[in-house]
Amino acid sequence: MRAVVGLGSNLQQPERQLRQALDALRAIAEEGVVKASSLYRSPPMGPQDQPDYINAVAVIETVLEPLELLDQLQQIEQQQGRERKRHWGERTLDLDLLLYGDQSIDHPRLQVPHPGITERSFVLLPMQEVLGDMQEIPGQGELGQWVERCNCDEIERVVE
Ligand code: ATP
Ligand code: CA
Ligand code: CA
Repeated sequence: MRAVVGLGSNLQQPERQLRQALDALRAIAEEGVVKASSLYRSPPMGPQDQPDYINAVAVIETVLEPLELLDQLQQIEQQQGRERKRHWGERTLDLDLLLYGDQSIDHPRLQVPHPGITERSFVLLPMQEVLGDMQEIPGQGELGQWVERCNCDEIERVVE
């Protein structure tokens, strides 16, 4: 199945955190292949007294079931020192399962598509870069229409 993962970090060298997470995703992806977006910088959501975020999106092919994949993603977060403090607070690494094939999943531990996709520019822009405007978000229509509506001024592509 094709899975789309959102990455975010705003602590301990966020760009390094994302690169390390992409390596970890490569280790669980079939054929070891990850298609990754550019890195993007955006102001924090929630508490404003925290550093800007670096975000990206990665596409992997996986044979893992959705909850197994979530377990793996949470394990990678743990490996990179994720601590749960305040809601939407600073973190070394956040991995969200954005899409899993064309499935809609409503489980106590896992909602897919991730409910934040349509209103978060730091998810929409990197998704558009790797998946294109025509990508269907199950139950929500095409990605391109959400990108048109988003407030994308606040986010910038990181020039490496
Ligand atoms: P948000 O989910 O709004 O982006 P967050 O990423 O800060 O907030 P976390 O603290 O990382 O939230 O995760 C809280 C819980 O969300 C996880 O323990 C997980 O069980 C649940 N969850 C539900 N749907 C998903 C999903 N699609 N991807 C990742 N976690 C999910
Ligand atoms: Ca998140
Ligand atoms: Ca999360």
